[in-house]
Amino acid sequence: MKPSPIHAATNQPAATRLRLRITAAAESIVRSGHPWLFADSIHESNRAGQPGELAVIFDRKDKFLAVGLFDPGSPIRVRILHAGKPATIDAAWWLARLEQALVRRDDLFDAQTTGYRLIHGESDGWPGLVLDRYDTTLVLKIYTAAWLPRLDEILALFQKKIPCERIVLRLSRNIHAVAENKFQRRDGQILSGSTPSGPVIFSESGIRFEADVLRGQKTGFFLDQRENRREVETLARGRRVLNAFSFSGGFSVYAARGGAKSVTDLDISAHALESAKRNFALNQNFPGVAACRHETVQADAFEWLASGAGKFDLIVLDPPSLAKRAAEREGAIRAYERLNSQGIEKLTRDGILVAGSCSAHVSAMEFFDTVRHAAIKSGRKFTELKTLRHPPDHPAGFKEAEYLKVIYLEFAA
Ligand code: SAH
Repeated sequence: MKPSPIHAATNQPAATRLRLRITAAAESIVRSGHPWLFADSIHESNRAGQPGELAVIFDRKDKFLAVGLFDPGSPIRVRILHAGKPATIDAAWWLARLEQALVRRDDLFDAQTTGYRLIHGESDGWPGLVLDRYDTTLVLKIYTAAWLPRLDEILALFQKKIPCERIVLRLSRNIHAVAENKFQRRDGQILSGSTPSGPVIFSESGIRFEADVLRGQKTGFFLDQRENRREVETLARGRRVLNAFSFSGGFSVYAARGGAKSVTDLDISAHALESAKRNFALNQNFPGVAACRHETVQADAFEWLASGAGKFDLIVLDPPSLAKRAAEREGAIRAYERLNSQGIEKLTRDGILVAGSCSAHVSAMEFFDTVRHAAIKSGRKFTELKTLRHPPDHPAGFKEAEYLKVIYLEFAA
């Protein structure tokens, strides 16, 4: 299928433009600036819509309410691009949107940090789209088929505004089939530049990390935990550190540079642990990293923590999302409580617990209270050092976008 330019979609004669009417409840949600319109909120449509075309939403008085990207294959049927006064979504409009996202990051990073998020989906005005920079590689990840017919166009825009050597396409699992069958696109495809010969190396706070941009989780690295990694570096001196759900050892290399005596990476994935070893090897120039004893344990963290052996002075618990759906919320809260209780049991008398959650369905307050509760139940004295939420390159502009939260507890000697 030939990609349809953004212009063509907006310059369609008004008669054939996709027009929707929605429920009163959805109308006020959209009016308040929420970026999602669910399929069951649409009660009238002048015709069937195609992936990626612009849908114009009218209110009960037939006045323009909003315009967004249509996706017939997703329960989030329209991702709102603009609400309020009528606007023309043309090339100049997209360029301004991109510039807004770039300007927002202008003063956030120096040359020590070459890996960060350039566009964070809805909260940056690019619904269902993420753009990450790993040094000279850009990784574009899309979560809705609506972007597939628009890829050539946004690619040209990114190339014009962001200097880079290559651009990699990543697709969320639910759109693999439609991407391949209808648009001849696949996960890990190189959109411009050469195929990397291995993982891509980038810097974060001067530490060198590898990212498997073609196949790795998310876009290859958990860029969202940068601030927490920096925090852990300041707490690690002289401590024996356990990094549970370590992935490629992000927290661990920071802890080592901060003077940790030893670091244990615990993950169920051998692949992740191999990457953690390479990340340690990449940073032997730092005396802390060179002096730190690094070991890896491949195991199920829930089982391993429940088993007896070993105590640690600092434990990072950063599991994958434990509630993928709203219905899993309560089970997830119980799992967080159990996991953190087990973590606390493995802490030395004056140990520090760094507990994270990336489940959007569990609120920050619920999560923090759950961890505090686990600490109270232990019967030990503790102080709360801090809590952290989203970093500035991962803004959360609406409730469903708030997933990341981390709480720091220090137990008394
Ligand atoms: N803290 C990491 C990101 C964690 S991602 C960072 O900052 O980079 C979640 C990790 O948990 C993945 O590496 C995954 O392999 C691992 N994982 C998932 N289930 C697990 C389990 N039951 N036991 C141990 N590790 C698990």
